[in-house]
Amino acid sequence: MHLNRPISDLLVRNRPVLSIEFFPPKDEEGGVRILRVAKELREQLQPDFVSITYGAGGSTQECTHQYAKVLKEDLGFEVMPHLTCVGASNEELTAIIARYQKEGFCNLMALRGDPPKGSDTFVQHPDGPRYATDLVKLIRRTFAGFSLGVAGYPEKHPESPSAEEDLLHLKEKVEAGASFITTQLFFDNSKYFDFVTRCRKIGIEVPIIPGIMPALSYPQVQRFCAMCGAEIPEALSQKLEAAENDKDTMESVGIDWAKEQIVDLIRNGAPGIHLYILNRAKPALKLLEALRSEGIFTH
Ligand SMILES: Cc1cc2nc3c(=O)[nH]c(=O)nc-3n(C[C@H](O)[C@H](O)[C@H](O)COP(=O)(O)OP(=O)(O)OC[C@H]3O[C@@H](n4cnc5c(N)ncnc54)[C@H](O)[C@@H]3O)c2cc1C
Repeated sequence: MHLNRPISDLLVRNRPVLSIEFFPPKDEEGGVRILRVAKELREQLQPDFVSITYGAGGSTQECTHQYAKVLKEDLGFEVMPHLTCVGASNEELTAIIARYQKEGFCNLMALRGDPPKGSDTFVQHPDGPRYATDLVKLIRRTFAGFSLGVAGYPEKHPESPSAEEDLLHLKEKVEAGASFITTQLFFDNSKYFDFVTRCRKIGIEVPIIPGIMPALSYPQVQRFCAMCGAEIPEALSQKLEAAENDKDTMESVGIDWAKEQIVDLIRNGAPGIHLYILNRAKPALKLLEALRSEGIFTH
């Protein structure tokens, strides 16, 4: 049976939280795959919660909702649907959130969102929120009981003029009512630890869950990093480059790097891990096996 549990409650237990991010499938084949992967991960990995993204440009709103329901009702996960401000009025967003609440969801990831494909700037709906902070405020104003995640950027949001300014806006987001922060992916743990220290220094006290993506394909990782501003450490680049023509070796390099990152993060106090696995089960299972051999996520 599925129990609705706010993620903020999960984060106060004395064991690290494991979460997995899915994205809504683009076609029927993808739909079959996500269900198979989710089932496999539920059985073998038992994440504490899963999240499901909201397509860039708000393009998959219905699909996000559809799969959030399937993951919750059919597969029994605690689910955190993502929601963005892109192209949406306050009224539309209120209707979406009301539907989630009626259906028993108690967790949401509140984001500004990326601009739609083909555009490189975010355009606010004339009657909609400008920043994620405004979305958090809208939710807190209108609804009770949601545990709200927001995004944080250890290496700064790419549009922000400075790390200091970005952090002040993150603080506003938390003061507006965010319950926890999930970070953008990073490959160098010192960026996360430094980010946490800087957050604490300016009074951001909520849990900060590190987002980790195993680097399974060098070109893909380069693309993601170019978009989100994360650096690929030289040592990782060299290993991935050396494995350029060997997919299996490249995957092993990525899994091994992610394992080392996670072991270090958990042993040094991170409240859990949010895994970006791009709807793939095998690498996540391999990674978990490696982590369990280190005594991590053995529950
Ligand atoms: C964990 C995670 C999950 C994500 N999931 C999705 C998803 O499902 N769908 C999707 O489209 N994208 C997703 N993204 C990407 C995210 O939408 C982009 O990074 C987006 O560009 C910023 O979203 P945000 O919520 O961080 O925005 P905001 O917090 O609004 O920040 C955006 C920029 O505005 C600045 N800013 C904030 N407030 C102010 C202010 N008052 N005045 C001036 N500047 C300000 C910030 O410093 C930052 O540079 C995700 C990112 C992360 C880390």
